[in-house]
Amino acid sequence: MALAIDVGGTKLAAGLVTPGGELVARAAAATPRTEDPERLFGVLAAVAASVGGDGDIVVCGVGSGGPMSSGGEEVSPLNIPGWRGFPLRRRLAETLGLPVYVDNDAKALALAEGWRGAAAEVADFLAMVVSTGVGGGVVLDGRLLDGAAGNAGHIGHVVVEPDGRACRCGGRGCLEAEVSGPAIAAITGRPAAEAGPAVVERTGRLVGRAVASVANLLDLRLAVVGGSVALGFGEPFFTAAQRELSARARLDFSREARIVPAGLGADGPLVGAGAVGWRGLGRFGGSGGWGGPGGPGGPPGGARPPGVPPGLAPPGVAPSGPRPPAGPGAPPAIAPPGGRGDIAPPGVPPPGLAPPGGRGDIAPPGVPPPGVAPPGGRGDIAPPATAPPDVAPPGPRPPGVAPPGPRPPGGPGAPPGVAPPGPHG
Ligand SMILES: [Zn+2]
Repeated sequence: MALAIDVGGTKLAAGLVTPGGELVARAAAATPRTEDPERLFGVLAAVAASVGGDGDIVVCGVGSGGPMSSGGEEVSPLNIPGWRGFPLRRRLAETLGLPVYVDNDAKALALAEGWRGAAAEVADFLAMVVSTGVGGGVVLDGRLLDGAAGNAGHIGHVVVEPDGRACRCGGRGCLEAEVSGPAIAAITGRPAAEAGPAVVERTGRLVGRAVASVANLLDLRLAVVGGSVALGFGEPFFTAAQRELSARARLDFSREARIVPAGLGADGPLVGAGAVGWRGLGRFGGSGGWGGPGGPGGPPGGARPPGVPPGLAPPGVAPSGPRPPAGPGAPPAIAPPGGRGDIAPPGVPPPGLAPPGGRGDIAPPGVPPPGVAPPGGRGDIAPPATAPPDVAPPGPRPPGVAPPGPRPPGGPGAPPGVAPPGPHG
């Protein structure tokens, strides 16, 4: 069982999530309006304790508003002023006596929707939240993107109105500055829940505009949208968003892109937090990780047939043996355990068959690329069979790095990024 914790500006929630993604218990409390970080933590710890499941809990996963430092070591949620640089991961680990993994709440939602929600069985999609803030998480090639410091997916700060409103990020015309609940209230003088048809249409249109850019940029065809503003506006919002997306995403690969409501509804944040925990243990996406084809609402556009979707399980890239020190391209704190191959189908070899540094795509200096480069772009930098001198200089290999040539048994099929448990434990 994973203890799941969702840290939000209005409520602090906890639940228990099974390895199969079922949410089996939940509790919540209002987020105290206080500047006292310890009082906030005390309420959070009490909520976590109240869900029970003591002996069965093996990990704690947390979804929190950002920004945060790598691995969620220090969180500073914009809507929780009492926490600025708060060491949430360490404090929870000390209190709970469990391994704790913290990630952005929108990225957690992406994990949840790809696991059991409206993006189940879809390898390439965007999940986003339109609520008090606007956040997102991108799954590409079946893997949740982290980025250099774990902040990949911040669609709330894609520019949709070049001369629009000032954003709290320091920019102008960001999606969040135009369509978040507080932004709508500021523009209209009324709460978002009381917005009229024109505001609902504009909100959908701007969300669709941002999603179109993402679809064009990343070759994905599905956006799953949750959050109180989007779901509260409902069908007129999604109709406007789809119309704008269809008008703006016109490339051959993007013109079929669809935008749909999140499938897990109110369970999404806690299921996602549980996924963060399982992911941290390297147990997300393996056997038992999939909820099966189709989630609530079925797999919309972009769904691939069950089995091995293209790009999910490229053959033969994972050297066996102990990893050398991570290269500069993938510091351990930036590549959390289990961080690649997140939404891989059953049958993926377990962690421990991971490449150096947890990422197969860009080999650290001095590491020879796999002699058999997989189709479809894992090991992308390395051409098949031979390595150019500037990529793999001749000379001794680091310990534990498999030589070029045929993969040892167990190597083929391993996605390069299924990293073993690392520094967060
Ligand atoms: Zn911004």
